[in-house]
Amino acid sequence: MRKKDLVIIGNGMATDRLLDELMQRKALDRYTLTVFGDEPHGAYNRIMLGKVLDGGDPDVIVTKPRSWYADRGIHLMAGVRVERLDTAARRIYAFNGESYHYDVTVLATGSTPVVPAIDGMNGPDSQLRPGVFVYRTMDDCMRIRSFSRAGDNAVVLGGGLLGLEAAKVLSDRGLHVTIVHLAHGLMNTQLDFVGGEMLRRQIENAGLFVRTGRTIDSIVGEEQVEGVVLDDGERLAADVVVVACGVRPRVDVARVSKIPINKGILVNDTLATQVPGVYGIGECIEHAGVVYGLVAPAWEQSEVLADLLTGANPQARYRGSKLYARLKVAGVEVASLGTIEPVLDTDEVIQVVEERKYAYRKLIIRERKLIGAQMVGNTVAAAALIQVFDRGDLMPVDPLEGLCAFAAGGAGLGGGARQICNCNKVSEDQIVEAIGAGAVSVQAVGEATRAGTGCGSCQSEIKQLVQLHAKKAALAVSA
Ligand SMILES: Cc1cc2nc3c(=O)[nH]c(=O)nc-3n(C[C@H](O)[C@H](O)[C@H](O)COP(=O)(O)OP(=O)(O)OC[C@H]3O[C@@H](n4cnc5c(N)ncnc54)[C@H](O)[C@@H]3O)c2cc1C
Repeated sequence: MRKKDLVIIGNGMATDRLLDELMQRKALDRYTLTVFGDEPHGAYNRIMLGKVLDGGDPDVIVTKPRSWYADRGIHLMAGVRVERLDTAARRIYAFNGESYHYDVTVLATGSTPVVPAIDGMNGPDSQLRPGVFVYRTMDDCMRIRSFSRAGDNAVVLGGGLLGLEAAKVLSDRGLHVTIVHLAHGLMNTQLDFVGGEMLRRQIENAGLFVRTGRTIDSIVGEEQVEGVVLDDGERLAADVVVVACGVRPRVDVARVSKIPINKGILVNDTLATQVPGVYGIGECIEHAGVVYGLVAPAWEQSEVLADLLTGANPQARYRGSKLYARLKVAGVEVASLGTIEPVLDTDEVIQVVEERKYAYRKLIIRERKLIGAQMVGNTVAAAALIQVFDRGDLMPVDPLEGLCAFAAGGAGLGGGARQICNCNKVSEDQIVEAIGAGAVSVQAVGEATRAGTGCGSCQSEIKQLVQLHAKKAALAVSA
């Protein structure tokens, strides 16, 4: 029987996981597989880009080198951008002038950075002018790295997750960094004003400068950037400007191919678009009115799509993802889940402010269920709270007590094992089992269970478990 042509467009983090899920389900028995990637590399962990910006070897974050594809007979078209699909003829047209047949195709084109229209942002060629950068790809990091030097002045436009991360790395590399953020609180998508304020104080203590409630009116300089003028007239010297104003779904291929889009490419619970044979996953899609900007939903979608495309589970459906983030932002532990403010008058709010430590915890509870939480500077309860939120478990009658019980490292209230890696949903029990089976390093645990291979914020907990349980196993052997 002829194998069908399965073509994936985009080779980012969603595709990376989809390929693993397809391999697990022996997809190559029924498909020939081709992956188009605009970027000239194999897949890599985009979340770890800070390491590359910081001067690290880019190979360290590569999860699938070219050999991975070649060894399996998967055609990798790296550095080849797809222009459009002819969905009636089932052909893909690429910018290299070639066209390719597909039976089934998956759009996994991710997001593109939002670049606001600011006077002086672009040069005469309408490209970003020398000294202005976005922060999305490995190549962006290499460009920023080779352009900037210790002692330079940098302005980062955007005090969200990406802006703060870029700012911290540049500061660690010896630049004088000012973050300019339009909202009054930093990370205002994930934190309320108090949370943003605590984060700001910690960030300023770390040597960065912050202007909130402000934006850049114009970027000035002859050929390359020399400074920025803020909306209140203040002028800041700048050799480097990093634009980190959020992202929007990359829908260009879908749009020209007449595949229905709204904010993102529209898909249903089977991740199918309205066009037969065309599916979508990751940040480029819109499912049930929601566009996601984190990796966990993309990975959940990948599992469902692999189940469907291989026939491993034809009933698999994607029902949407609960949103939570647990991150190290500019060196500060931050976690956020669900709503950031109460919605109903009856929603209960508990806030713990530790003024001296600049730490903040807030819980929002409705009918004993957790509907939102924020943690800045103290995220010890985050993993357990995320699990309670994810499963819809009941909080204790005194929610503060629950926060302490979680912090003590106990199981979630609904019982069951404590979840350590929220990106990959890996429990403490699974990690301990892997350690018992010989995985005695963070990397080995990651290879065995995937724990710690997403945002990496749980790696310190995995290390503690490795230290504790590897020692126990060694004692048991020597006894
Ligand atoms: C610096 C940084 C830090 C982050 N930190 C976190 C974090 O801590 N936690 C978290 O959950 N998420 C984080 N994210 C977000 C996370 O990286 C994304 O959610 C994830 O990468 C989405 O995967 P994706 O495959 O949908 O998109 P992407 O990973 O962006 O991949 C899309 C790929 O498709 C390619 N492409 C697009 N159009 C075409 C075309 N026409 N032809 C060929 N190829 C094409 C692109 O070049 C790109 O390589 C971070 C992102 C960045 C940039």
